[in-house]
Amino acid sequence: MSHSITNFAHEELQHVSRQHLWYPFTQMQELEREPMVVIESAQGCWLQDTSGKRYLDAVGSIWTNVHGHCHPHIDEALRRQLDRVAHSTLLGLSNVPAIECARKLMEILPSGLERIFYSDNGSTAMEVALKMAFQYHQQTGQPQRTRFLALSGAYHGDTIGSVSLGGIDLFHALYRPLLFEVEHVPAPNCYRCPCQASFPGCRLACLDVLERALEQDGQTIAALVLEPLVQGAAGMLVHPPGYLKGAHELCQRHGVLLIADEVAVGFGKTGRMFACEHEGIVPDIMAIAKGITGGYLPLAATVTTDRVYQAFLGEFAELRTFFHGHTFTGNPLACAAAIATMEVFEQERTLEQLPAKIARLAAGLTPLKAHSQVGDVRQRGTMAGIELVRDKASKEPYDYRLRMGQRVTLEARRRGVFTRPLGNVVVLMPPLSITTEEIDLLCQVIGESIAAATSS
Ligand SMILES: *Cc1c(COP(=O)(O)O)cnc(C)c1O
Repeated sequence: MSHSITNFAHEELQHVSRQHLWYPFTQMQELEREPMVVIESAQGCWLQDTSGKRYLDAVGSIWTNVHGHCHPHIDEALRRQLDRVAHSTLLGLSNVPAIECARKLMEILPSGLERIFYSDNGSTAMEVALKMAFQYHQQTGQPQRTRFLALSGAYHGDTIGSVSLGGIDLFHALYRPLLFEVEHVPAPNCYRCPCQASFPGCRLACLDVLERALEQDGQTIAALVLEPLVQGAAGMLVHPPGYLKGAHELCQRHGVLLIADEVAVGFGKTGRMFACEHEGIVPDIMAIAKGITGGYLPLAATVTTDRVYQAFLGEFAELRTFFHGHTFTGNPLACAAAIATMEVFEQERTLEQLPAKIARLAAGLTPLKAHSQVGDVRQRGTMAGIELVRDKASKEPYDYRLRMGQRVTLEARRRGVFTRPLGNVVVLMPPLSITTEEIDLLCQVIGESIAAATSS
């Protein structure tokens, strides 16, 4: 490939990008100063831009990539499926990959979750979960259960229903007039404990808060919604062990369904296939997306128990049908990518390799804790968050206008690592296929980038 052609393409792409694209979660006015990196190809954990520069994909293309880019097995599965059919609907028809993907999911899902309702992304999987939980109670003689309980700092997507569940003011506050009311209980955040206690001496005082909320309003609540173990968008908040199990018990006691949003944490990110496995619980409804296709194509599923499913059966005229469905539901190409992704987990024994990588990441992150502007380093599995603070002793955050997280990621980008911050938290969530050498490089670059950004 000639350099001049690439460079011409690069300029042209930047121009059209500036003129016509509107990027997600992006202040477009800044694009003038900080042009977009335009990715042209990728291999394994490395992205390559139109100028030929390579970047370690430290957030797995926004928490989706599992086995690396251009994985031969997934690529091959997609090519084979393309020769058969790219899309055919699940509205009134079925298709082979949608069925095979369901069977494959049955092999890995916590037992008891046995109905798969497909949709296209994490937000729609959560919309489906909300409507399912609501309708379940309507059709099982508890029509007063119309409300939802969620955690502070929650993030469940960007559609109006999932934004209603959300607890991140920066993203969600403006839309309040459009949203339905959701009760939020304080998230178990050990670095900034809402109960001013410390684990394990606290004996999970945060669960008492949840218990009080359920005692007060339990009879009108349809479901508790939470991200098990790690609240991703809240800043990689790692919940203390026992919280999920305790919350599940409380839900059962109060007749409240538990909706586990495994969109971010599912597919190995916490070290097990699903985060719920760590605490031996089976939620009533689970949402999965992001990693399900290995990060190749949009696909999501809302999975539930036979008990929930049975509440929707009846004669058509009884109107117990679940009236919901998206145009691309059960898309054959996406399902083929999902099947291949689950096959790679088996072929490469992906989960068995994780403990060594998780330990290597922990070792690489340890020196960062000593940095004067690093308040907290949180890790669960291959997910990590490094919280930057203005004052380490008082935990005073940096003013959000300083965009300290963003500054660190720009430094990292210069050094060949791509990540995306959440406020003052530097986020790491590489593909599970990352090597130990790449983990070492990643930690070294992040350390240098934090030092560079916070000293200037
Ligand atoms: C990303 C995410 C979503 C939304 O998924 P989209 O595919 O972006 O709609 C929902 N819940 C959690 C926990 C997420 O991390």
